[in-house]
Amino acid sequence: MKIRNPRTGEADYKIHPLDAEAIEAEAKRLREGQTDWAAKTPKQRGEVLNRWADAIEANLGDIVPAVTADTGRAGISKIEVISVAGQIRRWTEQAPELIATGQPTGQATSQPGITTSTELVPYQLIGVISPWNFPMILALIDAIPALMAGCAVLVKPSEVTPRFIRPLMEIVRSIPELAAVLSLIEGDGATGAAMIGNVDYVCFTGSVATGRKVGEAAAAAFIPASLELGGKDPMIILADADAEKAAAIALRSSIVNSGQACQSIERIYIARAIADRFLENLVRQAEAVELNYPDINKGHVGPFIFAKQAEIVQNQLDDAMARGAKLLAGGAVEKLGGGLYLKPTVLKDVTPDMQIISEENFGPVIPVTVFDDIEEAIAQANDSKFGLSAAVVSGSIEEAEKIASRLNAGAVSINDGSLTSMIWEAEKSSFGYSGLGASRMGFSGLTRFFRKRVLIRQSGDAAKIAAFAEENFV
Ligand code: NAD
Repeated sequence: MKIRNPRTGEADYKIHPLDAEAIEAEAKRLREGQTDWAAKTPKQRGEVLNRWADAIEANLGDIVPAVTADTGRAGISKIEVISVAGQIRRWTEQAPELIATGQPTGQATSQPGITTSTELVPYQLIGVISPWNFPMILALIDAIPALMAGCAVLVKPSEVTPRFIRPLMEIVRSIPELAAVLSLIEGDGATGAAMIGNVDYVCFTGSVATGRKVGEAAAAAFIPASLELGGKDPMIILADADAEKAAAIALRSSIVNSGQACQSIERIYIARAIADRFLENLVRQAEAVELNYPDINKGHVGPFIFAKQAEIVQNQLDDAMARGAKLLAGGAVEKLGGGLYLKPTVLKDVTPDMQIISEENFGPVIPVTVFDDIEEAIAQANDSKFGLSAAVVSGSIEEAEKIASRLNAGAVSINDGSLTSMIWEAEKSSFGYSGLGASRMGFSGLTRFFRKRVLIRQSGDAAKIAAFAEENFV
């Protein structure tokens, strides 16, 4: 299968998708490895994973260029790879205590003489299917805690961005205990679909359309699925906000990584009292943003990773313009050196019927709606099938929090935007079509990989059948 390079547009890489038989064999190998892995203490598993983090950091020179070639961006790819090592260390530090706390022994019950002990039993094999926008971190965000829980993990990253798989697997193979329980495989949608029948739990990150198929296949296979899907995150800016600062927050959280982030801000609702000042600032700041072309080490907005996404964004812009939206900055996808780019694009006079307001965008586009009444802003922000995250900006944190608690989303950034891209410690749900299943953030990111077995211990006399004789209850 040929893979397109996002900076040159050329198909300069090939992968060999695994067929169903090879997937089955790999799943069997990992299941065999899991027995020894689960028998280790969490601390011992952590020691192995910390060696993996060390090896990733020692081999940045192999992995960062691969992620860079996959995504067409340099600096963010470096941050991405380094943050994987950080996540490994975070889980190896937190998991042992968390696992111990989750297994209380000798707990008293309502029945004298009967006590309980809880055991956490890891699922044997977790399947991970991941998208292209942050290819390495999203391939491993669920895999790392699953490994710490004692599971084996089979990962199928996106076929759009597969170049990091080989250098990463080379590192994994240098640590035999890890290679026995972790495998990243090459493949497309068919590979992902074939994995589901071979695993005990599936973690999927991607679009709603594919997430629905994965959820249905998981239900048919009778396994749990964690689905992390798309978003259409709103930002409400109140009249008492500082217009210049609010514009800076709106710009960054809408266009970072060229808008290719699930928790990207995709709709702005601004109070009329500061709308003109906000828009002036937003347009000025947007026009100062530079494309990351031709020098990959300069600028702010890189190419679209996936060519089809550029087409989707352009169609949404065309639809908005045809329905009366007004363009204030940016405007059209450009082809530069074979890559597809879009300057930050600011639109006003947008309406809820436009695709740019109803559908996920995944590009550096900032549609702005002016509101007179906060109730109207809250209603419009909540008028979406998605509920991933949201943001509120105000001069008063208390005021912002009151609004935030009324938003239909699993995480709300206050006086900032897209904070879920940085803050992973607190649990959050994905509302609506943005996902299903336990939070991948916070402690449940790990605890969801366990089933619970309780041992219920009778230390007194067990009840005899005579105690249940009908005569006793007349
Ligand atoms: P996608 O749904 O097209 O593909 C995701 C993965 O699913 C790929 O690995 C693909 O090969 C695989 N796949 C395709 N068909 C399949 C099938 N029938 N069965 C099993 N696997 C199959 O998504 P994408 O375009 O790669 O990613 C972009 C989407 O991901 C956006 O909607 C974005 O919002 C979402 N996303 C969500 C989060 C989150 O945490 N909520 C994070 C990042 C991205």
